[in-house]
Amino acid sequence: MQITIQRPTQIGGQMTRISTHSTSIIIDLGHNLPSNDDKDALDNDSTIAELTQGCSAILYTHYHGDHIGLFHRVPDSIPQYIGPVAKQIVCRKYQQLCCLPEKECSAAFKHAFRTASNMKIFQAKQTLHFGDIAITPYFVSHSAYDSYMFLIEAEGKKILHTGDFRGHGYLSKGLEATLKYFVGQVDVLIIEGTMLARPEEKVRTEMELCQEATKQMNVHKYSFIHCSSTDIERLASFKNANNRIIPKRALITDAFQKDILDLFSRTAGKQSSCFDFGQVFTYNEHNQKLKEWMITNGFTMFVRATPKFHSYLDHLLPILPATETLFIYSMWNGYITNGSTQNTEYIRLQEYFANNKILHLHTSGHATAEVLRKVCNLTNPRLAIIPIHREKSTDFKSIGISPSLQEKIITQDYSMEGIDVILAPTSHTRQ
Ligand SMILES: [Zn+2]
Ligand SMILES: [Zn+2]
Repeated sequence: MQITIQRPTQIGGQMTRISTHSTSIIIDLGHNLPSNDDKDALDNDSTIAELTQGCSAILYTHYHGDHIGLFHRVPDSIPQYIGPVAKQIVCRKYQQLCCLPEKECSAAFKHAFRTASNMKIFQAKQTLHFGDIAITPYFVSHSAYDSYMFLIEAEGKKILHTGDFRGHGYLSKGLEATLKYFVGQVDVLIIEGTMLARPEEKVRTEMELCQEATKQMNVHKYSFIHCSSTDIERLASFKNANNRIIPKRALITDAFQKDILDLFSRTAGKQSSCFDFGQVFTYNEHNQKLKEWMITNGFTMFVRATPKFHSYLDHLLPILPATETLFIYSMWNGYITNGSTQNTEYIRLQEYFANNKILHLHTSGHATAEVLRKVCNLTNPRLAIIPIHREKSTDFKSIGISPSLQEKIITQDYSMEGIDVILAPTSHTRQ
């Protein structure tokens, strides 16, 4: 068996290929994050055709661009699989992008929309078979809904690929039981290590974040929230904070975000009221009645860093009392601090609120060192631990696992018991 991992020592842009003598599958086919490189050397049809050649299926852990971003370049002959709600989110996102005015992008977005629409879906805990490879998805909590880790069984070996995950979300509760009762001991653990480079970062639970938001929203009648538009748990934290306030305030947003929230209500919301967003209102500058109602009762608005929301803010902010208006930025700090990861559009959005209270309230979508250690201990890998999705400078040993597990950490090509691990050096994949 061969395990080949592209770009193991960077966050994002990974691809894991697992091949037996007769069959190959690929897990994730992600785009470089902007911080890694301006140009992604894999982002062209011929390289993707070469990398995916002879592959029976591509399975995506979740819909973040650094895991799915190159899906539109995959030849039609290779089936691609994703979670059922994740597929709907990807389709809705590309439907939105198809409507952008820039004509040169629209053909590419239309192609991506068609490819996403043709994706196949898998279900949690239902094993898929490709040749002599069996692969079972298990649900995990992450800043993308409908995310999975994969258990791969082939040639008598068990490999767990964690994808991106965390232990402090509302949906993390099943993690330990899943590992204990469904996964058990594995031969090889392929595990993300995003948080290794950020040991000082404050990691609150989603519940704690919700409580903090409630406090602030209680003393500010008008709240604008900038968070990921598809992170169900974060959106739920702010929705729940909003709904605790009496009299009840409306949730306002645009048609795209409303569609995503309605989708969450129809799916996860049926299993837990935590994810039922109830009635969500679409903002319309010309709807005077809605505007008056918002001003009288207060509201929470989910915003994004786009011209449409700039226009909303141009209309709304001048008529709202500055001291009663709150802006919450709820994403990674790296996007708004100076450096290669800074997003100027995010900064611009925040600048609209120069006269208002600005609050940075976030918690990571990734596992802490403590949770990574727990996963290593629960799966007790027999042969190898392969850290991926991490900064090059980090040392996976720092999570504090036992010396016998530390010896199994692999950071260069390695062969054992019929498994060849090939870690494609990051620098070789850059132009
Ligand atoms: Zn990722
Ligand atoms: Zn992710």
